[in-house]
Amino acid sequence: MTSFTLTDEQLECRDLARDFCQKRVSPVTRKLDEEGLPDDLIAEMANLGYLGCSIATEYGGMGLDPFAVSCIIEEFAKANAGLATLLAAHLSLGCKTMELHGSDEQKKKYLPLMAKGAITSFCLTEPNAGTDVLSIKAKAATEGDHYVLNGEKQFITSADIAKFFVVFCKTDKGPTCFIVDGDSKGLTVAPPEKKLGIRSSKTCPVHFEDVTVPAENMIGQPGKGFRVALSVLDYGRLGVAAGALGIAEQAFAEAVDYTQNRVQFNQTISSFQATQFKFADMRIEIDASRYLLYHAIAVEMAGKRFSIEAAKAKLKASETASAVADENIQMHGGYGYTQDYNAERLWRDARITRIYEGTSEAMRMIVGGDFRVKKEK
Ligand SMILES: Cc1cc2nc3c(=O)[nH]c(=O)nc-3n(C[C@H](O)[C@H](O)[C@H](O)COP(=O)(O)OP(=O)(O)OC[C@H]3O[C@@H](n4cnc5c(N)ncnc54)[C@H](O)[C@@H]3O)c2cc1C
Repeated sequence: MTSFTLTDEQLECRDLARDFCQKRVSPVTRKLDEEGLPDDLIAEMANLGYLGCSIATEYGGMGLDPFAVSCIIEEFAKANAGLATLLAAHLSLGCKTMELHGSDEQKKKYLPLMAKGAITSFCLTEPNAGTDVLSIKAKAATEGDHYVLNGEKQFITSADIAKFFVVFCKTDKGPTCFIVDGDSKGLTVAPPEKKLGIRSSKTCPVHFEDVTVPAENMIGQPGKGFRVALSVLDYGRLGVAAGALGIAEQAFAEAVDYTQNRVQFNQTISSFQATQFKFADMRIEIDASRYLLYHAIAVEMAGKRFSIEAAKAKLKASETASAVADENIQMHGGYGYTQDYNAERLWRDARITRIYEGTSEAMRMIVGGDFRVKKEK
């Protein structure tokens, strides 16, 4: 495996994001978990360019490379994983669909707005179509120079504040992708789900009832929507892996800090070899997750297919985040079970990374499926 050394510019992006998160997010992270994300915090992120950091400069973004973007998502996740979810879903699902598959006119129209902070939600999942995305039922019927959308989407990140929705529907030619304005007549966002974790990020059902969408809002070719969705989800999984890495790093740092201060049997808990063995296991898993993520990013940057690498990275980082967050609670003992410490929130936040943008089982299907049939040598 390649060795990865971040450049000075990438490190600077990471450090600036770390500084912002430590000053503006970490001190209020419990409040964000309980009350949601205030508009002024999202506006501040937009002003600083974070909501357009991966978008090319010609469209008003910062044009940062994927390593720098990954570092930024990781820093946000250390401070508040819900906020990192908002950022990653906007950049690596919503905006990425437009960047990869939008026409020149669409890119000129939408990307500058997205880069300035017009949150863009990605609507693929439906009440009865999750892992089995091919079974979506939402429909788009042609009527003259426009389409009429009808259907229900489920679990849509940031739908409560989205200005644009990337929506996957079936047309007579098959699955097709559209960009839909948030204020379209007939589009309604239901109240957010009450969730276990990432509570600062809102997740809502979205209903489309006779929503009129101009034909020019189709992204990519009619009937090729699943190619669009699957290609974008590869990027989304890099974002989830970066967020999971942030949760794991934070849980590890808090476990070390707590056990270096907590005294039992007249010694710090960190002085017990049993604790140090746990540190070793946690550290190795986190480092392995980082290498798999950076390897996937390097393959993507080399212009090669990276679906399998992205699936491996997402699977490893998300399972590591859950395991490390769990061990962090254990090392805090009873205090880890209370809201006096971050440990319980990190544990709740880690759990979603094994589910969204493809479950751990779906990731194993991608990685293991590669060995299903004998390949030509
Ligand atoms: C907080 C949150 C945010 C989300 N944000 C978005 C979003 O912004 N946009 C969006 O489109 N979706 C979003 N999702 C949806 C998410 O991607 C789906 O929940 C996920 O893909 C799983 O689909 P499902 O919930 O329908 O579970 P199901 O597909 O019903 O799966 C249930 C269980 O069965 C397993 N399973 C299913 N099929 C197989 C199989 N063939 N072999 C083995 N096991 C299998 C799964 O792994 C899982 O363990 C979000 C979900 C949540 C909870």
